Amino acid sequence: RKLYDVIIVGAGSMGMSAGYELSRRGLKTLLIDAFDPPHAQGSHHGDTRLIRHVYSGGPDYVKLALRADELWQELEGVSGEKLLERTGVLNLFDPSVYSYADRFQYSAELGVPFEELSTEQVRDRWPSLRVPDSYRAMYEPNAGLLYSDKCVTAFRKLALQTGARLLTDTFVTRIEPSASFVTVHTDKGVYAASSVILSAGAWFRTLEPFVRLPIRAVRKVVGWFEPGTTAYDADRFPGFTFGDETGGYYGFPSVGSSGVKIGRHDTGGEWKPGEELAPFGTAPEDEEDLRRALDAFLPGAAGRLLRGSVCKYEHTPDEHFIIDRHPEHANILLAGGFSGHGFKFASVVGELLANRIELGRWGREIERFSVSRFSASGISHSQGG
Ligand code: FAD
Repeated sequence: RKLYDVIIVGAGSMGMSAGYELSRRGLKTLLIDAFDPPHAQGSHHGDTRLIRHVYSGGPDYVKLALRADELWQELEGVSGEKLLERTGVLNLFDPSVYSYADRFQYSAELGVPFEELSTEQVRDRWPSLRVPDSYRAMYEPNAGLLYSDKCVTAFRKLALQTGARLLTDTFVTRIEPSASFVTVHTDKGVYAASSVILSAGAWFRTLEPFVRLPIRAVRKVVGWFEPGTTAYDADRFPGFTFGDETGGYYGFPSVGSSGVKIGRHDTGGEWKPGEELAPFGTAPEDEEDLRRALDAFLPGAAGRLLRGSVCKYEHTPDEHFIIDRHPEHANILLAGGFSGHGFKFASVVGELLANRIELGRWGREIERFSVSRFSASGISHSQGG
């Protein structure tokens, strides 16, 4: 049996990025995915993802976001594809619910440009927005959107060009570690490598009992609505987030004729691998909830529903990521629990994983993403059975 340097289980956002990064460094890399990425069964589809750099959760996130941004630009250069659109992102928030003070401070220290705007300034600049007087606003001009399916496709193309092998429609059923290599069992064959990356997104439970992570997958809906005006077009309207005690929403300007895309960050019913994911519109709230938010904040964008889509978040209990080695097996790495905000980091997560495998070190401070922080909640990571 051929021994690969690395096998990646789950070639989605993080896995495909790592696959490219490892392959271009000359490592013999095998990517395995249950579907044909990019695809609609994971967490990366639906055209676009926000990329922002002013981040809650500490300066580590800001540093990661800045490095991720550099790597996206590099990927654009190498692939020749337009992947990143700097539309700017406007964050509107109720200061009695959200505090931005700490993130303003460390983002400024790290040189991230942003503007704090009064509600009057917001209304002057984007008259098509409705903002309650009590709100605050922060605009990040260098933020924007990533074309997520195109990003995964670019990673895939370059990984294959640099010598990686990709098995699509191949389901990993079992991981079997030994002292010197790891065997990966699939429904189509058995493969072995010196190191393995597990990046299974919302499907991590399919790798139990070998690895049991505190990840809860939830159904998310997004909708694209036809604006009645060009005021929400991407050349004049930014990406946005807004939130108060009733919920948190994010969205995108209309790109081409896409319509305004909006999703809700909180809420979502639990989903388990193997269960059918109810399509958009199964519940009337799927559309009603998004439309209500548009009516309140972007009233001119609440036109006809052009399309809707369902996707999955994979939440950890603290909504921070898991990027770590397996607690018992140093040659197995874990990258999961990206909790609805991971895509922008996929480029740098690939770099981190490749560093750990090639150089034996991550190359950055990532202790906060360790799996051991959940040990009190009883994660088991035992048998190779
Ligand atoms: P995925 O990209 O889903 O990859 C996991 C892969 O593993 C899949 O391809 C799957 O097929 C494969 N797999 C799983 N189990 C197996 C198995 N047993 N055998 C073989 N293959 C397997 N992030 C942002 O940064 N900005 C945003 O604006 C944003 N908005 C979002 C909006 C929505 C609606 C959703 C759903 C997510 C959003 N996110 C956003 C989050 C981001 O998209 C995810 O954090 C990210 O895509 C997760 O990447 P992943 O590699 O963990 O999962």
